[in-house]
Formats: sequence, structure tokens, C-alpha cells
Amino acid sequence: MSAAVPGFVQVDVDGLWAVRDCYGRAERDSFTNDPCWSEGVTRLDSVFQQAGIDAAFFIVGRDMELDAKRRIARKLLHRGYELGNHGQTHRLGLTLETTGGILREVTHGHRALVQIGAKPTGFRAPGYDVDSRVLKTLVRCGYEYDASLLPTFAGPLLRVAQAWLAGRWIGGRRQYGRISYGRAPKQPYIPRLYKVRKPRFERDAKRIVELPVGVTPGLRLPLTASALFPLSRNRVRDLFMRMAARRRPVLLLLHAIDGTDCSRPIVFDTKTPAMAGFRMSGEAKERQLRMIVEEFAGCFAVTRADDFARRMLAHE
Ligand SMILES: [Zn+2]
Repeated sequence: MSAAVPGFVQVDVDGLWAVRDCYGRAERDSFTNDPCWSEGVTRLDSVFQQAGIDAAFFIVGRDMELDAKRRIARKLLHRGYELGNHGQTHRLGLTLETTGGILREVTHGHRALVQIGAKPTGFRAPGYDVDSRVLKTLVRCGYEYDASLLPTFAGPLLRVAQAWLAGRWIGGRRQYGRISYGRAPKQPYIPRLYKVRKPRFERDAKRIVELPVGVTPGLRLPLTASALFPLSRNRVRDLFMRMAARRRPVLLLLHAIDGTDCSRPIVFDTKTPAMAGFRMSGEAKERQLRMIVEEFAGCFAVTRADDFARRMLAHE
């Protein structure tokens, strides 16, 4: 039945400083005093342990400068999780960088993970911002997959929603990809290195797997906690069953803040929007996370993406 369709559960470990930056809020002490790490990662780990699933944590290199965060990351590694590269500085607008800047983000982020003993082979650009230069850089660095592409036409809508949440428009960034990525495949594929959204047709030596981020049927919003937290178990099950019926592998993307108590305003200092989990308590989030992960594991065969990509490249 549908249990044979592979599914991937991945977490972007955006520290509180990175989340605040997403919404144009100053960092203050949120790099060192960071509940997304101390609480969020721990809670997600326990949800995954209880569900008995393999997941991946995508880590920002800069966070590995702190002893406390390095200890948590090492623990994840020892527990058998895949660790992926989420860039060195969580640069929102990676494709606005020069080729050298992209290379720096990838290699410095990579080195930070290697120093704690990980061997990352997967990358996700902050804000789903990927282009052919990013892919070429990843191939050059020996990566096996990229998981940055959001196959949706809803990018402009999501950017407006983001600005509305932030209370302002923030320049110098690029998020939620290009409109043309709405035409990209919604299942893992091997892209043309010079045209990310197209599957390759020629047999070249340089290859990498593109693992698109899951999108909801219909509106094609990112399959993240923001989309799933407001739903009941029945609606979540119905959604996953509909997705699994299409027989396409699906990537469920979570964030460290999804496991972090937000009953105090930690992201927005003043009025906090009552949506996307920004006001949910840690306990309420934990209940929803357990439900979401259980239902996902009931509809998909949860698989490590690094193993999946390696097999896909070997069988090409
Ligand atoms: Zn991120």
C-alpha cells in the first residue's frame, strides 16, 4: 500500500537569532541565549525517538562556534541522525551573493560540521533560495543532494505574508524561490546543472539529486508546521493520504522553533501574530508534532535522504 512511498523528515535548525533576522528583528542575546537549540532541538529529538523515525537536522555553521550548541549537535550525530548543511551564516538571499560568496557559505558551513565529526552530503539554502550556481558549488564540494527547491507558484504570496508578519518589507533578500520553480518536478530528480527546475536529459559526469521541499496539494504551500499546526489529526491524515496516493516521495520540513515554547514573545518583541505557532506553548507544539510525525510515518516509509540520494545516483 502507500506505506512504500518514501518520506523524509528534516529540521532546519534556525537559531532564535536566525528566526528573528527572518522577521527583521535585532539579534540581541539570541545567539547565546537560544531556546531553539536548548529546547526546540531537544523536543524534536524526543518526538522522533518516540516515533522511531530517521530524521535529518540541517545546521548553520555559525552556531557551531558555541560549545553548548556543538554538544547538542554531537549528541544528534551519536543518536544516528543525518546532519545537513544549512550554510555558514543563514544568508537569506544566497543567490544574490557572488559565486565566491556562495562557495564560502557552503564550505564554511561544511567545515563547521566536519569539525564535530559529521559528513554532510545534503544542503538546504536558507529561504529556499537556490540557482544553478548553488548546485554547481554543491557538486564541486562533493554533495549528493540539494533540498532547497520549493516547487510552487506561491512565492510572491509567501513573500507578502512574510512581510505582513514582519510588519515591514525587508530588502536585499530573496526567499521562496522563483515563480518558474512552480513547474519543477515535485519528486526527487536529477536536475540540469544550468537549469535547476529541469530534469537533466544528457548523461554528464557531474550529478546531484534535487529533493524538492514538500508542498500542500492545491495552493502548494510549503509542507511545514505553519501549514500543519492549525489542522486536526483527521485533516492531517487526510492530507498525507492524498499526497501518498500520488506515489511521490515527500519531504516534510520542520524548524527548531516548532519545538520551542512561544507563549512568551521571543521572536516579535511586541504584538505577536496569533498564527503559524507564534503564540503556541511548548506542550501544545509537542502534542501537534507527535500527531504530525505519527501520521506522516503512517502514510510514508520514512527514509534517510542521504541514503536515498546515494541510491538514486548509483542507479542512474
Ligand atoms: Zn533556515
